[in-house]
Amino acid sequence: MQEPAGNTNSRHPADLTRRGLILSGMAFLAGCATSGPKKLPTAIWPSASPRTSEIVVKPTPSVSGITGVESRLLWAKGRPVPSLMDRMLPIKYITIHHDGMNPFHGTGAAECAARVELIRRAHRNRGWGDIGYHFAIDASGRVWEGRPLNWQGAHVKDYNEGNIGILVMGNFEQQHPSSAQVSSMQGLVKKIRRKYGIPVTRVKTHREWASTLCPGRNLQSQIDLSRSYSRFG
Ligand SMILES: [Zn+2]
Repeated sequence: MQEPAGNTNSRHPADLTRRGLILSGMAFLAGCATSGPKKLPTAIWPSASPRTSEIVVKPTPSVSGITGVESRLLWAKGRPVPSLMDRMLPIKYITIHHDGMNPFHGTGAAECAARVELIRRAHRNRGWGDIGYHFAIDASGRVWEGRPLNWQGAHVKDYNEGNIGILVMGNFEQQHPSSAQVSSMQGLVKKIRRKYGIPVTRVKTHREWASTLCPGRNLQSQIDLSRSYSRFG
């Protein structure tokens, strides 16, 4: 489960503690890091707000092969860079994260798309080939396609091989996940488990791999309950 040497793509999201973003006057942490940024690069968009207001979310064919997922074409302002990523190995694990940025309760397609894009851009700025997570779930329960599943993710240091990364959007040290978000997370985990034959014992949270607060205490408790009540199938 070691990362390939010299592969910048597999850096840990916690490295993002060294990088922050300013957007619309607010400081963000980009990814599931849990401590403050030391460096604040410039804003992503030349204009004050992202041009995502035209986004119309509708059912789209999922590149991942998982149903009920909104295509990355609806949010991503850039393509994955294959030379900076590794091919996904046989899928064995699912790992759940929060983004650990400012609390976020948004349910509008445009604002959610903008947040996923913010994370993608931050991960690209780290030298990674794409957003590190394979899926992102917003507070409405909408599931966004992240890094295509044919590419290894970048979300748990040393354990990215065969590991699908699910981001639940928000900071669950500071807020609670919505019921729609929890329900959607459970449904997505079930679908992935079924498709790839992943035992429920291999559905983990970031902090179950490493020393981190991710996915936040309020999401961790929901995940513990989900296991207790067999909501991951
Ligand atoms: Zn995480």
